[in-house]
Amino acid sequence: MSGILIVAEHDGSTLNQSTAKCVSCAQSIGADRIDIAVFSNQCATIAEQAAALSGVARIITVERAENSHQLAVHLAPQIAALAANYDYLLAPSTTFGKDIMPAVAALLDVGQISDIMSVEGPRTFKRPIYAGNAIITVKAPDAKIIVATVRVASYRAAATGGSADITAGTLDVELPGHTRFRELRTGGGDRPDLQAASIVLSGGRGVASKENFEILYRLADKIGAGVGASRAAVDAGYVPNDMQVGQTGKIISPDLYIAFGISGAIQHLTGIKDAGTIVAINRDSEAPIFEIADIGLVGDLFDVIPELERRLGE
Ligand SMILES: Cc1cc2nc3c(=O)[nH]c(=O)nc-3n(C[C@H](O)[C@H](O)[C@H](O)COP(=O)(O)OP(=O)(O)OC[C@H]3O[C@@H](n4cnc5c(N)ncnc54)[C@H](O)[C@@H]3O)c2cc1C
Repeated sequence: MSGILIVAEHDGSTLNQSTAKCVSCAQSIGADRIDIAVFSNQCATIAEQAAALSGVARIITVERAENSHQLAVHLAPQIAALAANYDYLLAPSTTFGKDIMPAVAALLDVGQISDIMSVEGPRTFKRPIYAGNAIITVKAPDAKIIVATVRVASYRAAATGGSADITAGTLDVELPGHTRFRELRTGGGDRPDLQAASIVLSGGRGVASKENFEILYRLADKIGAGVGASRAAVDAGYVPNDMQVGQTGKIISPDLYIAFGISGAIQHLTGIKDAGTIVAINRDSEAPIFEIADIGLVGDLFDVIPELERRLGE
């Protein structure tokens, strides 16, 4: 009997949609059993949300004080301890999963398969390489556990309506004491998480300053959108780097992506390939982003944003 264990991503109270997307990937592997592990200092609320995902057999809660901040150094040995009962360990290819799973793979002495975008067979997967410009098919060696991250932009969230069993896992694992949580700083405020938002507004170098980003935040708040940025905007200090979209930032798949003052470098486009509709506003009609945009508007963002705000305000 083959089993898949998914590591739940959450913020302490809400299960991230990325977990439901891992369930969809797991379903396409065709294993006999899909379980989800929840690590926290208080697991109940998250476990209930995970149990509602359809196709999941069991939720294993691992509750201990060290799990309150989900540091890789603490989670990895616990995940590795649970691995004995499974053939696959999956986590989303988000900042969370990318932090934790390489440490798990190292503890289990296997290579990690990163960014699964489709399942071709029980041990064969497709994943992007060269900033998404090529797709490679990789086959994991037989008889070894598969440790992998799932490209969340490639999967829809699994439906809800399930009622998995919830059991408390007892793990006798000694955790290293050399690393501890100090503080968490986020720059994005209360706006929707970039990787879960259905609308994302993004600003590039063309926004020209940290202060000017305020007009983008205001517009985003009016329509409940997340706000992203190009690397040039991050490097210039206009926004924090957790807002970066692209090859070395976040890979996102909103229904609607609106790019303001972004030229459309390949490394940026890698991050938005799976967006439903891409709208570009750029004053240069030759900007490469117009080649991939579904809707393009040649114009100055400082004229376009106030006009959009005015129309929304009506
Ligand atoms: C290894 C590597 C990894 C990288 N990873 C990433 C990544 O993850 N994400 C990423 O974004 N980039 C990444 N880059 C950088 C990428 O190559 C580009 O340099 C970057 O995306 C450019 O950002 P930009 O479009 O904001 O700036 P620019 O290329 O300078 O474009 C600014 C655009 O704004 C327009 N503009 C200016 N003023 C206005 C105005 N008032 N109204 C309307 N339009 C205006 C201009 O016409 C121009 O098209 C990476 C590069 C490398 C080498």
